[in-house]
Amino acid sequence: MSTTHACDPVLKDQRALVTGASSGIGAAIAKALAAAGAKVVVNYAGGADRAHAVVEHIRAAGGQAMAIRADVGREDEVEAMFAHMIETWGSIDILVNNAGLQKDAPLVEMSLADWQKVLDINLTGQFLCSRAAVREFLRRGVVPELSRVAGKIICMSSVHDVIPWAGHANYAASKGGVSLLMKTMAQELAPRCIRVNAISPGAIKTPINTAAWMTPEAEAELLKLIPCRRVGEPEDIARATVWLASDESDYVTGATLYVDGGMTLYPGFDQGG
Ligand code: NAD
Repeated sequence: MSTTHACDPVLKDQRALVTGASSGIGAAIAKALAAAGAKVVVNYAGGADRAHAVVEHIRAAGGQAMAIRADVGREDEVEAMFAHMIETWGSIDILVNNAGLQKDAPLVEMSLADWQKVLDINLTGQFLCSRAAVREFLRRGVVPELSRVAGKIICMSSVHDVIPWAGHANYAASKGGVSLLMKTMAQELAPRCIRVNAISPGAIKTPINTAAWMTPEAEAELLKLIPCRRVGEPEDIARATVWLASDESDYVTGATLYVDGGMTLYPGFDQGG
């Protein structure tokens, strides 16, 4: 049993790594984990300024954070990032596999390079980071003062792990892959006291999908697909991440939490009978 007190922040003294944390959902998650008491590695691939701005935001609020550059699709860079974190903070307790990108094209026009790039970052990146984190979770084992389990992994998926997405075959394939990677890791690692879950966001206002919500016309079209009639904010995803990273969700593993304003319920509403 955890020995933290009821008034302690839920992630007190835990060490978290968030990939792709210099913008959008990842930046909101890094800030929320820090506000919940965790020390946070803000991973980024490019744009060091934005990563350092997230670190400064966390420090200004009294939290602890550091930025580490690594391309999650490259094994050598991922290994170096985890080695740096573990050398600096001793270990890792929480991994959030958030980094991702889109390179959209109709199937017949999609280049092998764009197919491969999206798979490398969105899927292989989650494998490489999870493997590095799990090796450390297993080496260190459970620390009851910190958490009931040896480690937690949260994989950022998408509603397009169940909804096909014409014009985005590489992205949808990567997120479908994340879904079964997550469930398989959860099944394999539950007996070793490691929890693995996924969050599948719906439409969230971030740089990845600006065209979908930037103009009133585009937003009106998007809202037709969302029963809650609200485009999501990065903080909607960040709050769910904090819960999945904490002992509050201790009996949850292998689950996908759809944080989508009901988007995956479409088209079961407003169909006129
Ligand atoms: P974003 O573009 O702001 O964030 C993606 C981040 O990943 C960026 O910071 C980018 O620099 C980083 N990244 C890209 N390649 C990288 C690499 N090789 N190594 C390390 N980092 C890399 O967009 P976002 O919406 O915040 O996306 C975050 C995650 O949420 C992604 O996995 C995305 O697929 C998922 N998602 C987003 C939405 C949405 O509506 N915004 C919906 C479903 C899922």
